[in-house]
Amino acid sequence: MPENRKLPHVPFTEEMKKDYTILIPNMLPVQFKLVTAIMANYGYHMEVLETEGPNIAECGLKNVHNDTCYPALLVIGQFIDALESGKYDTHKVALMITQTGGGCRASNYIHLLRKALIKSGFGYIPVISVNFSGLEKDANPGFKLTPKALIQVAYGVLLGDFIMQIHNQCRPYEVHKGDCDKAVDDLVRKISQDFAGDKFIRYKQVKMLYFLICKRFAQVELKDFGSKKKVGIVGEIYVKFSPLGNNNLEKFLLSEGTEPVLPGLLDFCLYCIYNGIIDFNLYGRNAGNAAVMQAVYRFLLDKQKDMIRVIRRDGHFRPPMEFDRVRKLSQKIISPGVKMGEGWLLPAEMVELIEEGVPNIVLTQPFGCLPNHIAGKGMIRKIRAAYPQANIVSVDYDPGASRINQENRIKLMLSAAK
Ligand code: SF4
Repeated sequence: MPENRKLPHVPFTEEMKKDYTILIPNMLPVQFKLVTAIMANYGYHMEVLETEGPNIAECGLKNVHNDTCYPALLVIGQFIDALESGKYDTHKVALMITQTGGGCRASNYIHLLRKALIKSGFGYIPVISVNFSGLEKDANPGFKLTPKALIQVAYGVLLGDFIMQIHNQCRPYEVHKGDCDKAVDDLVRKISQDFAGDKFIRYKQVKMLYFLICKRFAQVELKDFGSKKKVGIVGEIYVKFSPLGNNNLEKFLLSEGTEPVLPGLLDFCLYCIYNGIIDFNLYGRNAGNAAVMQAVYRFLLDKQKDMIRVIRRDGHFRPPMEFDRVRKLSQKIISPGVKMGEGWLLPAEMVELIEEGVPNIVLTQPFGCLPNHIAGKGMIRKIRAAYPQANIVSVDYDPGASRINQENRIKLMLSAAK
């Protein structure tokens, strides 16, 4: 008989806000650091977990079933590993996890996490859900994102994306090792200070900061800028971005003498937002929600256009492709109705990279992730037919996958890299 027990819910209360630390799993170090700094202004003490190593996957395997999606296994493993480390007073800690609200399992990781907490004796720890689908509404009275805070967080994400994109372009060519990382640290510190306190940063100031980012990276001494083979990284969001999830893929590609090219987090956000419009256009669902999504989509597209304009005006770096063009490119390959997991975004990003002169691509996916295998791996043949220069390798990640095997597959792709 299947177990049908409702897990007890431990709310994050107003009282807890005063002295609790909210732990968040690491995925995008720059963006997350900025977001935590901004959230501190609204009274939340957040900490990004930066732990790594094989013990995290082992801890995940001990606490969730081994057919759980690899990203969930790592996130839960990283949380429990941190709680067991002795570094935190576990009675003053809360955990934060995202829920996509889509049809895929990512909407349900939160229940797996709660179950794992009970199993390991931490059932009293509150878990906060971050989502834009109305899930767990009013479940945590101590955690409320006001519109003002949301706008500031969105600006933090835009700035983090901007830093990440320029950093990735410069790092393979830095003359003095560590200069680019130092530029990132300086910028994160400066931007965090700018956002500190209860002032409201306006978009005009954000645009000034874009110029400052370009200026700071222009000070880094580079050699033979842009001369290395470029290798795109696409895939499931966690495995694509998190060094823990992809066995330090970016570091490996750098050590192979290539320039890794990563699309920004903004593309994923725009993909999720546009899916609300698709729901109405294709399936007639929720016209009101689609109208809101249309407005948010346009708002963020305008912001992305500003980023592109600044990068073009500065003249040193490559701007990303406008997302609306990326979206339309995907329609040559796959229907927009395919929106489970990363859905149509996967072929869209692969085509974007190829059109931008980056035909060498590592497609990262969790082992057994059905949506991404269909929309990613399943589309390779079609992409190759449309773009014969495409040189794509698909790599699966899970606790049992051999790193050597993964790296050898990538090396094979690199041997044919253009
Ligand atoms: S997209 Fe893949 S990894 Fe993510 S929840 Fe769905 S099946 Fe799991």
